[in-house]
Amino acid sequence: MPDRPNILLVDDDPNVIALLGRTLSELGSVRFATNGLEALRLAREFPPDLVLLDVEMPEMDGFELCSALKGEPNLGTVPVIFLTCHDAAQQEATGLALGAVDFISKPPNPPLVTARVRTHLRLKHVQDDLRQEAATDPLTGLPNRRHFDERLRHEWLRALRAGSPISLLMVDIDHFKEFNDHYGHQAGDRCLRQVAEGLREAVKRSCDQVIRFGGEEFAIILPDTDGSGARKVASNVVKAIRALKLPHGTSEVDTFVTVSCGAATWDEKSAQWDESGSQRRDRNHRLSFSASDLLSASDQALYRAKALGRNRLQWRTLDEDSPVDQGSPPAT
Ligand code: GH3
Ligand code: MG
Ligand code: MG
Ligand code: MG
Repeated sequence: MPDRPNILLVDDDPNVIALLGRTLSELGSVRFATNGLEALRLAREFPPDLVLLDVEMPEMDGFELCSALKGEPNLGTVPVIFLTCHDAAQQEATGLALGAVDFISKPPNPPLVTARVRTHLRLKHVQDDLRQEAATDPLTGLPNRRHFDERLRHEWLRALRAGSPISLLMVDIDHFKEFNDHYGHQAGDRCLRQVAEGLREAVKRSCDQVIRFGGEEFAIILPDTDGSGARKVASNVVKAIRALKLPHGTSEVDTFVTVSCGAATWDEKSAQWDESGSQRRDRNHRLSFSASDLLSASDQALYRAKALGRNRLQWRTLDEDSPVDQGSPPAT
């Protein structure tokens, strides 16, 4: 169990809040709301481990709030227990269909509430651990490919909504097959861990996300980062890995382990302009791109960096006619 689970109690009846508040405070930190909108605000501010939710409330009722919670990316997995009044069977059927985990009938019986809430907090904790494990690469401790797909889609949609740029880097260790063949698989694993750590350190902002994409390939999602920012980070990454000075005696590129980096940026502000000065790319054009276009653009840039000799970066935009050769000379 987490040290102090966070419980959100939502009921428009102050007597229920007072009664259950005392009971629940023995199980965790309790926050209260007497209406749906306030509850939603509190949940967004800090996702709770469990929500105890009155069905009948004025304005936004418990069912509406439950639907709203289930629709939020960070709150969809938070267990909801309904406090039901009369016509319980119908309310329970509706609640179950909305994704509730349990029901407690009113007036609530404190020992029963304690027992049920404790059980669901324990289950939530186990589920959180499993989810975390499923999204983590065991070798490097970085988030894995499964996590990547979700994050990239999420950040892509956020960038479109906000009209802000987004960049993606693909980083691939150079001649790593030779490294494994020469030093052995265990040394290869150690090298992967060191490169992962080097990447984590080379990336400065807390919202930047380094992911083990697979094998000896890593992806770095850079929210709110334009082309010049992406080239800067990519250049830091290439230099930082070379600066680790991990010996690689069988690389054609260098005596140390190096990486190649493909970077791609979607930036509405720098979309292409035609001769008359009006924006050639319209809204429909913008919407015709997707997160997977960003991924394939950075993949193409990576391929190009490899072809040009490795230990370098290449950058491109998503516009198909944009030049790819905007990289840097080899890092030394
Ligand atoms: P390039 O410069 O073109 O990227 O060449 P490369 O040898 O790095 O690329 P290639 O795709 O031919 O080989 C990748 C190698 O990465 C194959 C495999 O030996 C190694 N590899 C992939 N995953 C792991 C891993 O988890 N542990 C270890 N030790 N090696 C791995
Ligand atoms: Mg009520
Ligand atoms: Mg490689
Ligand atoms: Mg590779």
